[in-house]
Order: sequence, then structure tokens, then C-alpha cells
Amino acid sequence: MNVHAAKAAQYRSFNPATGKLLKSFETLTDRELETKIAAAEKCFETWRHKTYAERAVIIAKAASLMHDRVEDLAHTMTLEMGKRINEARGEVEFSSKILGYYAKNAQHFLANEELHPSLGEGHMESSPIGVIFCVEPWNFPYYQLARVAGPHLMAGNTLLVKHAGIVPQCAIAFEKLLIDAGAPAGLYTNLLISHEQSDHVVEDARIKGVALTGSVAAGRSIAARAGQNLKPSSMELGGSDAFIVLEDADLEHTMKWAVWGRMYNTGQTCCAAKRFIVVDKVADKFLEQFKSALGALKAGDPLDEKTTLGPLSTESALVDLLKQVDVAVSHGAKVIMGGKRIDRDGSYMQPTILTDVKPDNPAFRDEFFGPVAMFFRVKDEAAAVALANDSDFGLGGSVFTKDVERGKRVASQVDTGMMFINNISWSDAELPFGGIKNSGYGRELGDMGIQEFVNKKLVRYAAIDAPA
Ligand code: NAP
Repeated sequence: MNVHAAKAAQYRSFNPATGKLLKSFETLTDRELETKIAAAEKCFETWRHKTYAERAVIIAKAASLMHDRVEDLAHTMTLEMGKRINEARGEVEFSSKILGYYAKNAQHFLANEELHPSLGEGHMESSPIGVIFCVEPWNFPYYQLARVAGPHLMAGNTLLVKHAGIVPQCAIAFEKLLIDAGAPAGLYTNLLISHEQSDHVVEDARIKGVALTGSVAAGRSIAARAGQNLKPSSMELGGSDAFIVLEDADLEHTMKWAVWGRMYNTGQTCCAAKRFIVVDKVADKFLEQFKSALGALKAGDPLDEKTTLGPLSTESALVDLLKQVDVAVSHGAKVIMGGKRIDRDGSYMQPTILTDVKPDNPAFRDEFFGPVAMFFRVKDEAAAVALANDSDFGLGGSVFTKDVERGKRVASQVDTGMMFINNISWSDAELPFGGIKNSGYGRELGDMGIQEFVNKKLVRYAAIDAPA
């Protein structure tokens, strides 16, 4: 269930730590939108012919501007969606790294690939396909944009981007980075548009591909429309990742990842650890330590570096998450810690652990997008794998064991797009990111991420006569 998917697009920045409205923005008129689509198409006709080195000048410059502006960009993000300031700075630096990575490596990733047919010679070449429409979520306001801008601009495409309604200032700041880096008009365009206008953009014949990161509901709607119009799409959707703890895990090491994995970004991460599946032998000890570590987090101003628990992104996200917990409880789940809002200004929720979530409980298949952990006790490794796989999602997951070969065996058996052994170091510029099942399809980042919206063309030369 995603609780945000039905709301209409309105571009308003609220500070979730105080509830105060910071700024609001009007959506584009249809005429303004038309002008921006036309500019993106026009820009493609020149950008597609630029060399990789020419493109890299602009993308690398945007990367270095991002690094130079880390304090301002991080501050805007913290005010707009409540990310703790240290995490916000880390996101800005990482986004800069992603842009720099593609500026450096795109030519190599998209170089011609020699083929070896039985007759003659052949190769695959990669060329850009045109204007790509990207729809992005608020939980990583810059990283999500860098994940599409770095690869797809370096591949020679141009981008139209609809960011989430609650982070318009971040959306505008990112567009400005590219403009300040020397991007020609139409290369990267932020669109403040409604869902209805977004539908028209997907259908517009000038748009050649669609990338969405967001909820399952948004994915279904946008992927269906893209499919109807025979456009390639990539979908990075929700998750309910398993965090598997085997009896031979190093508990001290595991506990630090458990807390980080559930609480980073106040739990609002697609590939956060959401289902803690612990083998019986160590379950009591794990649970006791987990409760104590979560209980030690202190709610505070996310601009204060000492704060260890930030707010949720909006008041409605908090209200919806509390409702989800109530529904889980009404179907038999037990709240063994937390479960309530924190009594202070802003949209803060207590770190929460649910147990006794049975398969007939709607929570069993839901994504909890916030500081709510589901805890499951299982008898052994096989039961842990079976439970991990009993999910509609298939984004990531992790396994903790001192035996790395055992970890690899478990990783191979879990049906997800990503598995991590003794860590949950989710994302690196060099590593592909993405899922299967309701978590979507396609990959971002790494070499694979730049291949999503390029034409892979076969060119064959063979000195042979036509068959008689
Ligand atoms: P969301 O409601 O689906 O919103 C994501 C984006 O889609 C926003 O820009 C939103 O615009 C837009 N959108 C939603 N419905 C739309 C529609 N019918 N037509 C056009 N645009 C539409 O998701 P969210 O609550 O912001 O983000 C959280 C979700 O994203 C979680 O499920 C999370 O797991 C997932 N996520 C996945 C990844 C990944 O890489 N797999 C990464 C991060 C987040 P408005 O804001 O204007 O509604």
C-alpha cells in the first residue's frame, strides 16, 4: 500500500520539523509545458551529436558545483523533507559522485561492442533515443535526480523531470546546477506539473522513454500508459526487504546495521530493512538489543547534528503510517515498542517494532515507509529464506552470518534484485540498483543504468550473395 499515490500534484514546501509552510509554487500552464517539451526535443537534435568529451564538460561541471554547494543544497533538503543534516550532506556528495562517474565512464560503457558471427563481421553500437521523461520521489531529493541525469544525459538523451510535489525547492536547485554548469536550453528541465499533465507527457510522441521511481500505484499507472504507447520504461518501486540474521552472526556488528538499515532517512528508504527475520537461537538476544538501540534514538531538529531521530517527510506521511500500524494491530499484530507519534511539534514517530504479523494480516505484504520494523522468529536458515521470499516485493535484502559462503548461498536463494552479506551498503555509483516483482524492472547506476534508454543497434558487414 502506498498512501501518497492518490494525492494531486501541488508544489508546496513544508518544514516537517515545525509544520510551517516555507514556499509554494504554481504548476505550469499547458502552454508553458508545451514550450518546455519543444525545447527538450530541439536540444536533443544538437546534444545527440556532441562527443562524450563535450557532454562530460557540462556534467562534470555540475558535479563539481554540487560539491561546492553542499551546505546550501543539504540545508534546503533538510528544511523541505526533514532529512537529518549529516545524511543530507552525504546525499549531496554522493549525487555529485554519480554525475562525475558517468562524465568519466559513459564513453567506455557505450563503446561499440564487437560481435563474432559465423559469417562476416558485426558490432553493436549505442545511440541516444531522444527526450526521456522521469518521475521522481522526495525521499532522496538529489540522489534520485543524479541517478537519471548522469547516465541519460551522458548517453546523449535530454530529460524532462517531474519531481515530487513536496520538494520543489530541491527540484529547482538541481535544475539550476545544470544551467550554471552551461547546459543548453532544453537539456535538463524541471516540470512542476499535475498528474494529468504528466499523463499527457507520457503519451506525447516526442517523448521516447519513461523512468519512474516511486510507489507501486504510481508505477502501475505510468508503466501502463508507457506500454500503451510502446515506450520503453524503467520502474524503481517500493520494497519490504528482509534482514536475515542467522545463528552464527556477529550480533554486535549486525545490530549496528539493523538500526541503520531501518532508521536511516527516518526509515523512508525503498530498500530499507523492513522485515527482520531472525533464527530462533539468537532471536531473544537480537530483539532485546534492537529495542534498546532504537529506544536510545533522540528526536530533535534535523538541522542539529546531534539529533538521531528526524521527522517524517510530511504530516500526512505520519498520519498514514500510524493508521497502517493500527490496521496491523487490529489484525493481530503486537506493538512491542513505540507505535505512537512523539509529543512535540513536527511530524515525528516513535521507533516501532511489530511482532506476531501473520500472513493473513495486511501488514504482512505492506511496505512500512517510516520507523516501523516487523520482527519474525524462524526456526532455521531454510525457514528464513522461505519467509524472505513470501513477499510481493523483490527489491533488496541482507543476510548476516560469520560464514561468508553460507551468506552467498542464502543470497542466491532470495528472489530480489540485490542481496547484501554482512552489510546493507545499498548504493554505489558503480553498482546496478533495482528490483523484481512489484519492486519494478530495469536498473539504475553502474554500467547497466546507462543502457536503459539507448538504441542498441546491430551493424553487420558480410561479403555474401543473396540466396537464390
Ligand atoms: P509516489 O507517491 O509514487 O510519488 C513518486 C513520484 O511519482 C512523485 O513525483 C509523484 O508526484 C509521482 N506520482 C505519483 N502518482 C502519479 C501519477 N498517477 N501520475 C504522475 N505522477 C505520479 O511515491 P512516494 O510516496 O513519493 O515515494 C515513496 C515510494 O517510492 C516508496 O514506495 C518507495 O519504496 C519508492 N522508492 C523506490 C526507490 C527505488 O529505487 N526502487 C527509491 C526511492 C523510493 P506527486 O508528489 O506530485 O504526487
